[in-house]
Amino acid sequence: MAITKAKGTYDILPSDSYKWSFIEDKIRQVCQIFNYEEIRTPIFEASELFHRTVGETSDLVKKETYDFKDRGDRLVTLRPEGTAGVVRAYIENKMYTEPINKLFYIGSMFRYERPQKGRYRQFNQFGVECFGSSDPIMDAEVISLAVTIIKAFRLKGVKVRLNTLGDDTTRESYKAALVEYFSKYKDDICEDCKVRLEKNPLRILDCKVDRDTEIFKNAPKITDYLSIEAKSRFTKVLEYLDSMQINYEVDPMIVRGLDYYTHTIFEIEAQIEGFGSQNVMCGGGRYDHLVENLGGPSTPGIGFAFGLERLLTAIEAEHDLNSEMQVHLFVIALGDKARLAATKIVNDMRCGGLITEMDYLNGKLKNQFKLCEKYNAKYIAILGDSELENNEINVKTPNSTEQVTIPIDNLYQYVVSKLRSSSCQGCSSSCGDCNCDCEGNKNE
Ligand code: AMP
Repeated sequence: MAITKAKGTYDILPSDSYKWSFIEDKIRQVCQIFNYEEIRTPIFEASELFHRTVGETSDLVKKETYDFKDRGDRLVTLRPEGTAGVVRAYIENKMYTEPINKLFYIGSMFRYERPQKGRYRQFNQFGVECFGSSDPIMDAEVISLAVTIIKAFRLKGVKVRLNTLGDDTTRESYKAALVEYFSKYKDDICEDCKVRLEKNPLRILDCKVDRDTEIFKNAPKITDYLSIEAKSRFTKVLEYLDSMQINYEVDPMIVRGLDYYTHTIFEIEAQIEGFGSQNVMCGGGRYDHLVENLGGPSTPGIGFAFGLERLLTAIEAEHDLNSEMQVHLFVIALGDKARLAATKIVNDMRCGGLITEMDYLNGKLKNQFKLCEKYNAKYIAILGDSELENNEINVKTPNSTEQVTIPIDNLYQYVVSKLRSSSCQGCSSSCGDCNCDCEGNKNE
């Protein structure tokens, strides 16, 4: 019997891989604009790292990690999230000698969860981690980066929800209030929450089972327990977000599932049909004690992680990504001499940056046109022996009657200018997104 993929994993085939390149390229562009640098850490780490970072009582560590002993009897874990490894690398490589580090990563994470729509055992995250500043301006910048990602993909149905977990004083008094409140309902909460009540009461609010019950809705809100300092810090974060005109909603019920968060935490939710509670695309927050807890110098930090599968689903729900994989030019050659000349033309076009394709099976004209369709070619150049004798080539626009015969030497310029004007989305005088020759751009 043939071997199949492991449960909760999936293959990214060429019919989809171009979408992944598209989103990863765009993410890299946005990170570059914000001056964040890429970091790549190992896919597995010592298990202890995740136990100490994420917390022994979290579902992630208790139920979801892929732990194994390697051949040297070391206990290692496939990374279930990106922050722990980045913090480990930050400390180990003494990156703290720089006052500020603004980092991002893109990579696979592994969680032994029940696979369902939007939830896999191997999935991909893009995340940022920012070390060295506890200024609320940093919280606002990190949130604005996440929002810029959303904007870069022109996603509309998106909500930014944020909350603060305050400082240590806040969390201690809030935990006490939660214990007092939920102890009254001990018989009504799920088995996991009973354990959380003993070990980590904040986590109760993360419960996937009881979250929507009246008991939960009436539970104490952290906003009523904030220390004066924590409250004024959170107000500043909101002021910065307001000044950047970022829309958000303060939601006192978000606590986030990991142990390391302090102060600002946030989530970005997309309205994706059929996703239910898997609607959260991005989650993040501040973790001012984590570097120190892992043996580094006391250093504030803040970050977030986007789930790329959910981001891609949200993008595809609103946009057709097919045009992202268009071949700019397909060169059809008929006859041996034309094929020889076409090889040079295709190479020249590619050197000039045009995505160019040809037929490698010496097919008939009809078959070569079929390939143009398969590759979604924007323009088709047709070269036969007679055109070659005149140093000319025919250029056709698929699905239109437009066809011209031009000198071969002009082909590159011709296709480039056609591509420019066709990418124009109806310029106004403020359009800077394309370099077309339309009236709007001439007026600038
Ligand atoms: P977390 O690290 O749990 O805060 O998750 C951050 C983001 O990663 C979530 O908002 C999801 O978009 C994504 N994510 C988490 N777990 C999974 C999973 N098992 N499968 C797919 N995406 C996930």
